[in-house]
Amino acid sequence: MNHSAHPSVKTTSTYPESRKALFPTYGPPEEAFTRGEGCYLFKEGESEGYLDFFAGIAVNALGHSHPELVSVLQEQAGKLWHVSNALRVPQGEELAQRLAGIAGLDRVFFGNSGTEAVECGLKMMRRFHFDHGRPERDRIIGVNHAFHGRTHGGICAAGNPEHTKGFIGKDERFDHVAFNDLPALEAAITDHTAGIIIETVQGEGGIFPARTDYLKSVRELCDKHGILLMLDEVQCGVGRTGKFFAFEHYGVQPDVVASAKGLGGGYPVGACIASKAVSDSMVIGTHGSTYGGGPMAMAVASKVVDIIDDAEFMAHVTTSSDMLNKGLNDLVTQFPDILKEVRGMGLMIGIECIPAGANGEILKLARTHNLLITKAGCNTLRLLPPLIIGEKEILEALAKLKTSLVEYQAQMNSA
Ligand SMILES: *Cc1c(COP(=O)(O)O)cnc(C)c1O
Repeated sequence: MNHSAHPSVKTTSTYPESRKALFPTYGPPEEAFTRGEGCYLFKEGESEGYLDFFAGIAVNALGHSHPELVSVLQEQAGKLWHVSNALRVPQGEELAQRLAGIAGLDRVFFGNSGTEAVECGLKMMRRFHFDHGRPERDRIIGVNHAFHGRTHGGICAAGNPEHTKGFIGKDERFDHVAFNDLPALEAAITDHTAGIIIETVQGEGGIFPARTDYLKSVRELCDKHGILLMLDEVQCGVGRTGKFFAFEHYGVQPDVVASAKGLGGGYPVGACIASKAVSDSMVIGTHGSTYGGGPMAMAVASKVVDIIDDAEFMAHVTTSSDMLNKGLNDLVTQFPDILKEVRGMGLMIGIECIPAGANGEILKLARTHNLLITKAGCNTLRLLPPLIIGEKEILEALAKLKTSLVEYQAQMNSA
């Protein structure tokens, strides 16, 4: 048998020996941290921390080892871990009411991840039309450069060829159009369309917020054609943009919302939130999740929501965002050959770079200065700091980023 890889398959020969029993799907990651505290991560035996400005990709919304989350987790761990959905989980009943209330919706299905929340919404949008005598309405429209996670449904909805290649069939009943392009969307709607899925602020694609006029018009189009609007707020939700849900900035009411990442603050949890009318279709036996909505996740997520769903906390996110954005825009002015623009909302920030691959090089340099940032599509540096950052962390991040840019510029000039 010939085991040589297809030329298009990336080699895994750079994988360290320590990872030989893990699927080579990531990376390969280079560093291991053993402790986290607030906005910092620490390596074994090192006292100088790394400033964490991507927070597990928007997951550690309250930073690392937040004392209130640690205590609620420890307390719950000593009482009850898991019971299955055959029994009641009172914390989940309460959390569902709160989340639905914040979202302007009625009901929640809890899962364990973002892609599970997305999956539930995709299934539900089809089932809703099926139940209303329109079984032909089974197509869902997604937008280009989207990301909805890695299940079959998630990769189909996003339609990114790098993620779908070799995994899906010819027509999985999804259509794709350009993002922020209303005429393109309108043209794609047919008698077979069940719903539309959009990230309110695109994350992986490069930090692109939906335009306000666009999202408002998408809602109108949905109403006109009797189709459903689902917003994926897995990355941009839970206070990240300065409101609990990013769509609150737009004055647009979705029918379905997917939430996860920051919702558990580091404990796995996902939530699909929907109107009564739409979730009426998810009757007994239509869907489920063994771990979903378990006592541990519900206890932690309830505490996260307690802390973040608070006007003062949201004002802090906005103030921090203003300060960070001002500093980043100054860097764009100081490094016009390297940085093109700053985009985003709240503490979900993208800085588009100019030289090809500059985002990867700059984030490596930043790491040598103990600043952890990540990247996204469109040659973008991505900043997703914990929402608890203060002035000290912002100034430190800006100084470290500036040092990294000076070094990158010197590399460019000597090349
Ligand atoms: C991360 C992400 C997902 C997938 O979440 P997982 O928890 O990795 O399954 C889905 N949608 C968006 C917008 C995301 O950023």
